Amino acid sequence: MTRDEALALDAADALAPLREQFSLPPGLIYLDGNSLGVLPKATAARVQQVVQQEWGVDLIRSWNTAGWMDLPQRVGDKIARLVGAGPGELVVADSTSVNLFKVLSAALSMAQADTPKRKRIVSERSNFPTDLYIAESLARERGHELVLVDADELPAALDEHCAVLMLTHVNYRSGRMHDMAALSRMAADAGALTVWDLAHSAGAVPVDLHTDGADFAIGCGYKYLNGGPGAPAFVWAHPRHAERFWQPLAGWMGHVAPFEFSPGYRPAPGIARYLCGTPAVLSLAALECGVDTVLAAEPLGGMAALRRKSLALTRLFADQVQASCPSLTLVSPRDDAQRGSQVCLSHPQVAYPVVQALIGRSVIGDFRAGDTSHPAGAVDILRFGFTPLYLRFVDAWDAAEQLRQVLESGEWQRPEFNQRQAVT
Ligand SMILES: *Cc1c(COP(=O)(O)O)cnc(C)c1O
Repeated sequence: MTRDEALALDAADALAPLREQFSLPPGLIYLDGNSLGVLPKATAARVQQVVQQEWGVDLIRSWNTAGWMDLPQRVGDKIARLVGAGPGELVVADSTSVNLFKVLSAALSMAQADTPKRKRIVSERSNFPTDLYIAESLARERGHELVLVDADELPAALDEHCAVLMLTHVNYRSGRMHDMAALSRMAADAGALTVWDLAHSAGAVPVDLHTDGADFAIGCGYKYLNGGPGAPAFVWAHPRHAERFWQPLAGWMGHVAPFEFSPGYRPAPGIARYLCGTPAVLSLAALECGVDTVLAAEPLGGMAALRRKSLALTRLFADQVQASCPSLTLVSPRDDAQRGSQVCLSHPQVAYPVVQALIGRSVIGDFRAGDTSHPAGAVDILRFGFTPLYLRFVDAWDAAEQLRQVLESGEWQRPEFNQRQAVT
């Protein structure tokens, strides 16, 4: 493809106006929205209003008058529209790690009651580490076993020992997307429950939790939902499960009547019991602005239209890189049906400095170190996330061209690009 052809795709793109919602520094090609989404233009004014008026002037009254108390549900209902959940089924609270602890614990309680002989949590070896750590700690606490397998070994691991299948829908390193419907059905047929992490899915790929037969789900607010650094996360339980057990972090915001101040815990009906403490109002206000940027695509075809553009962007970038950078290997799947919204490449030696040199050229991707404990996951990854809300086809084209120039010039050898920083 030529650069002019990429520009022509942008001129014909019905989603192109959505980019106007964002405050993108000029000249920057931002391919890291899968790690921290871009700042929406509406966020600063909205947060300032919450700070100056709702907090500064109205003070404590704002819990009622400004709807602070309802923010977890209100923003939750908006996210629900993006993941195939119903209104009142999903709330925003805490972090992804903490929400995983709640739902995995509830799922294990259900399994303990219904299928007490099942003692295994099955997950993927290349799952995001925090998910594995949370599962490891719960397994230790409850006398379960965490069993880690490769993706192609999952069906065989769904046996009479499996209590819960815990997966991240789109893998953070490889960009590979699981077939949620097929695996949920397989798990259900095997008598196991499913917990899905949607960190790299919500706002990036269509998800239909009900149709796909999920039991529990959680996800992240600061990636494709553009909620800002450390934005609160979300949690969903299928309505038929939501009231079966207490989640373990029984705080007062999950009580049926917090302002009765009664000494005994009585869980709120439905998903509200998955709240724990006081909502982070400033962060929720920012997250709502971010979620609104995704919902703005609804009149233009919504998640289905965003998905079509995302696939076209990742395909363009992967094709250009494969044609012009022979030292790089495509790690993310070529098959559209198996690819999330990111392109992952590997380089045998110099992935880290190449990413740094690209950042020096204002093309921001990131680096994910290989997992040396396991041969299949050992390669270092250059990772590029494509957010169709604010990326143009010409950005994908230019990023591939910059990558070619970095590799051909050898500028990645400069010492400043080889200093490993704390956050990669
Ligand atoms: C980003 C991400 C998280 C982040 O969890 P935090 O609690 O927000 O730090 C968790 N799981 C997956 C799969 C992720 O991609």
